[in-house]
Amino acid sequence: MEKHIQLEYFVPHEKEGHYLTLPFQMPENIAEFSLSYHYQKDQVEPIQVENGTFLSSRQINILDLGLVGPNGEQVGASGSDKSAFTLSALEATPGYTPTLLTAGEWQIIVGAYKIAPEGVSVLYDLTFTAKSPLHLRGDIHTHTHASDGVLSASELAVHALRHGLDFLAITDHNQIAKSDQLPRIAGITLIPGVEWTHYQGHANFLGTDQPYDEPFFTNTPEDARSRFVSARERGALIIINHPFGEGCEFQFDLNQLTFDCMEIWNGPMRESNLRAVGLWQSLLASGKKIPAVGGSDYHRDNLFQILGGPCMGVYALSRSREDILSALRAGHSYITFAPQGPQVEISAGDAIMGDSVNWQPGTYLSISAQGLKNGDILRAVTAQDSTDVFQATSDGKVTLEIPIAAPGFMRIEIHRTFLPGIPPLPALISNPIYFDSD
Ligand SMILES: [Zn+2]
Ligand SMILES: [Zn+2]
Repeated sequence: MEKHIQLEYFVPHEKEGHYLTLPFQMPENIAEFSLSYHYQKDQVEPIQVENGTFLSSRQINILDLGLVGPNGEQVGASGSDKSAFTLSALEATPGYTPTLLTAGEWQIIVGAYKIAPEGVSVLYDLTFTAKSPLHLRGDIHTHTHASDGVLSASELAVHALRHGLDFLAITDHNQIAKSDQLPRIAGITLIPGVEWTHYQGHANFLGTDQPYDEPFFTNTPEDARSRFVSARERGALIIINHPFGEGCEFQFDLNQLTFDCMEIWNGPMRESNLRAVGLWQSLLASGKKIPAVGGSDYHRDNLFQILGGPCMGVYALSRSREDILSALRAGHSYITFAPQGPQVEISAGDAIMGDSVNWQPGTYLSISAQGLKNGDILRAVTAQDSTDVFQATSDGKVTLEIPIAAPGFMRIEIHRTFLPGIPPLPALISNPIYFDSD
């Protein structure tokens, strides 16, 4: 959805040589902003010459352009060279910095370099493109050569792009990948992060350059807790990693820690992941609302580890790191075994996965699954039951409506036989929709 406005601004001759500003309101939830401006630049005068008319052109007005954001920061300046620019959180016309389009008062810089004696009227055309939900895929648990991986951050980002991923978090052990060290590569959103790695457990802190001031190490549970508190205060998305990881089980008391998500699927599906799914299921059944996430924990390519295996599918309002992290925090996401894995959407009224709605008799869950392979089993999981609701008899997609018998939650799993003779394993696990009782 696009919204256009026009602002007319008159610059009198006396303002020549001054910098002026013209305020405007950036609405909420804008994905992209464009501006163009028009004014009379030249005065054209016909002059009669011997065999015709000569049109003499003389520049009488020169207006410079720039933009100031809501906190007074310069977003860009393009002199009189460009008559338009476009801006989003990830991309911008050269001369402008990719910037979050925060709602509030922004200002157009009106540089009155040269103004005709009669003054000049400038017309600014502003276009606001609203955010709309996007389906994106990304890996939120990866290592570079800054810890025990083998690729640089840039190499990893290019690798992720080639695998069809839209976003990538870099989570080296106790080594923070800060925003200004991350590469900027068109088509992929890089998210700063760190895997806080302790002998008693690992946790990912995403989206913050400085989740804590102290060194990573601590020898008391109280100090460990303070790292989590500080990270939360600074806006990090906190993920409890591989609770049953081989040799790196999470041994701190979860009830004593502030966290946002639980990594129930780390690298290839195996016993430790199935136990993590079981832990998450028991927390959900006890009434907790904890978004599940998965990540490849990629270090290098080998037989069992691929980038994006598994990866997150998220329903985010834009490709900005802030909107991707919000979607993960809200559980607007599912985990799929690979970048080319299946996709699922679930809804109940306006609610999507991760949301809560009030349960009433007659409540249904709508499911749409695509990228299914012949033999795939779609399973609906509640606190009480795990029910196979569909089995694919060919490759394709399906839509279903499942009645919700009682308050609680419902989430979806897709199970697939990956190799003949080996029992089916999860190919996808969605976050639930929660059905609250009044
Ligand atoms: Zn780890
Ligand atoms: Zn790791």
